[in-house]
Amino acid sequence: MRHLFEPRLVNDEFGDPALYVDFRDERRALLFDLGDIGALPPRKLIRLSHVFVSHTHMDHFAGFDHLLRVVLGRKTGIVLFGGPDFVAQVEHKLRAYTWNVVHRYEVELVIDAREIGVDGCGQRARFSSRTGFAREPCAPFDLPGDVLHEETLFRVRGRFVDHELPCLAYALEEKAQFKVAKDRLAALGLSTGPWLRDLKLAVLAGAPGTTPLRLRWRDRHGEHETTRRVDELREVVLDVVPGRRIGYVTDLRFTEPNLHTLTQLLSGVDQLFIESVFLDADRAHATRKNHLTALQAGLIARRLGARAVVPFHFSPRYEGRSAALAAEVHAAWSAAPIAPGDSA
Ligand SMILES: [Zn+2]
Ligand SMILES: [Zn+2]
Repeated sequence: MRHLFEPRLVNDEFGDPALYVDFRDERRALLFDLGDIGALPPRKLIRLSHVFVSHTHMDHFAGFDHLLRVVLGRKTGIVLFGGPDFVAQVEHKLRAYTWNVVHRYEVELVIDAREIGVDGCGQRARFSSRTGFAREPCAPFDLPGDVLHEETLFRVRGRFVDHELPCLAYALEEKAQFKVAKDRLAALGLSTGPWLRDLKLAVLAGAPGTTPLRLRWRDRHGEHETTRRVDELREVVLDVVPGRRIGYVTDLRFTEPNLHTLTQLLSGVDQLFIESVFLDADRAHATRKNHLTALQAGLIARRLGARAVVPFHFSPRYEGRSAALAAEVHAAWSAAPIAPGDSA
């Protein structure tokens, strides 16, 4: 199955949290959290269309300057999402520099900063390089449920968890996956390729069957190109099944309200990226720091029915012992269900 997107952590488990999600067929990407992103080459940063920040502790937001420096003069726009006070924080970051020449750059950069309030209302402002990044207020926006961003093929949802401050946990959901019959495809003289994304777009958008689609793919015989109608191609799709869902969860306390929120956001998630900062032997310390232990992260993954779990955001105190943290997460995630009343 050709996936719409490929998520990958930017740093190792001890580095700053950041999840880069590549949409290979679209030459664009999303980023969850904006800590140290120096490991991402400029070409990958330039592909970013939207950045979703969980909260603005330094390890999640200090990469803003690096991103700005790379995209300035090269990219026309980027959308940044964050929690309470986020628009003001973006403005303060921009105010920290002198912008007396930037209005002359050939490529105008517009930063669209969007802030989610705990009351569910959205605030928004625009900052253009043409005006030295002066704040231009935009109309507040409503959030339909917990959907922060929606396109034809995917959506991003977010809900607040408690980290002694409101912190956004995110779900990235592909709306549908097509199961393709390889034999029917071969009978038509075709092979899978990026054109499947165009077919998906056409079908999900309800395009007429006569709509022509240009198909390009590459195999061992080289490059191929042909044009087919949507209704011809629809025959190769065996089934439309729910799309892949991934979760990005970091910086939170292990509390029942947080678990309830995550259940609403991420039940049955295919792949869960979750912080696992401390070993459970140091649980008292984790509680003081408003973070999860690895065991707690594993229990959350199990509660959610996550099909895969990727732990990250390990405390540097365990340098050289990452296997112990990962083992604790996986043991709790894969263990037999605990009987009600058992404490874990
Ligand atoms: Zn953190
Ligand atoms: Zn934090």
